[in-house]
Amino acid sequence: MLVHVKTFRFVANGAVIRHETCEDCGQPFRYTLTRSATGKASSLYGTFTKAASARAQKDAQKKLTRLLKTDADLVPCPKCRHVNQSLIAAYRAARYRGMPRIGALLFGAGVVAEVLVYLTSNAIGPRHGLHHPSGIVVGIATAALVAALGLPLLAYMLRRAINPNRRPGEPEVPIGTPPSEMQVKIDGNSEPQWVKVPSVDPAKVLAGQWAFFRAGHLSFPPLCCQCLGTADGTIKSALGGKRLIAAPICRNCQKMLSRKEAFGTMTVLMMATILGLSIGWLFATKRGSSGLGPGIAAGIISLLIALKIRQRGSNALYRLKFADKSRGVLKIRFANPAYTALIIRDQAEKDAIVPAAASDKAPSAPDQAF
Ligand SMILES: [Zn+2]
Ligand SMILES: [Zn+2]
Repeated sequence: MLVHVKTFRFVANGAVIRHETCEDCGQPFRYTLTRSATGKASSLYGTFTKAASARAQKDAQKKLTRLLKTDADLVPCPKCRHVNQSLIAAYRAARYRGMPRIGALLFGAGVVAEVLVYLTSNAIGPRHGLHHPSGIVVGIATAALVAALGLPLLAYMLRRAINPNRRPGEPEVPIGTPPSEMQVKIDGNSEPQWVKVPSVDPAKVLAGQWAFFRAGHLSFPPLCCQCLGTADGTIKSALGGKRLIAAPICRNCQKMLSRKEAFGTMTVLMMATILGLSIGWLFATKRGSSGLGPGIAAGIISLLIALKIRQRGSNALYRLKFADKSRGVLKIRFANPAYTALIIRDQAEKDAIVPAAASDKAPSAPDQAF
């Protein structure tokens, strides 16, 4: 490769505590706003890598600070389940931000295309008997205008559609919305205590096949994720995405897994060899002895494809995906659904009605560089 670019990524996780007062019933409450932001920076030919990784970190921190300052979660009042208009407004403003940007980009591309059409039609059109390509001009202009006006309009309409207060008392809030916390006096105790109230209907959370969690706030039950036995090690899934998280596993399952993987790799190697040999044989019978070269080439290509497929399919212990990137909400699902169920229950318990931390300091999650 002529130009070598190394890209650095840095994920900054952060949380702040937000204090609210219900605009309907006057109940004061608080919630923890958790966000995660990714910063990117590149370095050419591996030079100034330190500066690039520092830039990625700074970029992530800047984005995170803005999110923590301006974004909001649709947390219903713990008493009357109403969602404050100020929260809805801030939440709406932070969604679908990419759409108008894409519209502007497409509009710019349309303008450039029109200029190119104009220049080329003027340069070659009249001389070579080409007519003005008016169809193309009109087409590009229409597409550019539709993108420039349509995408911001679509974003506006999608934002307007976000209305958790449609059914009073039964707010529609997305999974991963943090619980609200309010101060109550428990058994005539003189000091009021913070108590958590789930924002999302627990039945909805428990019925899902995925475990949802806010970035940096996933903890695994200390059991093997395959057989639910005692875990004595950890393992990363091939389908874990870029954010590699190691899940607990027992020695037996680990052994079984590597045996399965070795067997899979052997099968793939054999299939690729057979395929390569048969293609080589086909060529050889058709064109005499010159089939060896294409045969070897076909064998190598099928081997590469097979290994790529193998890499994706191997060790699929769990899948990890973003459920909502803008809120930093992720979802995870294990090959063993019983283990997923355990995590779902754990997460639901964390958000359930339990005494919350007394301090007013938001919990912190570690940042990640990769
Ligand atoms: Zn209220
Ligand atoms: Zn096991």
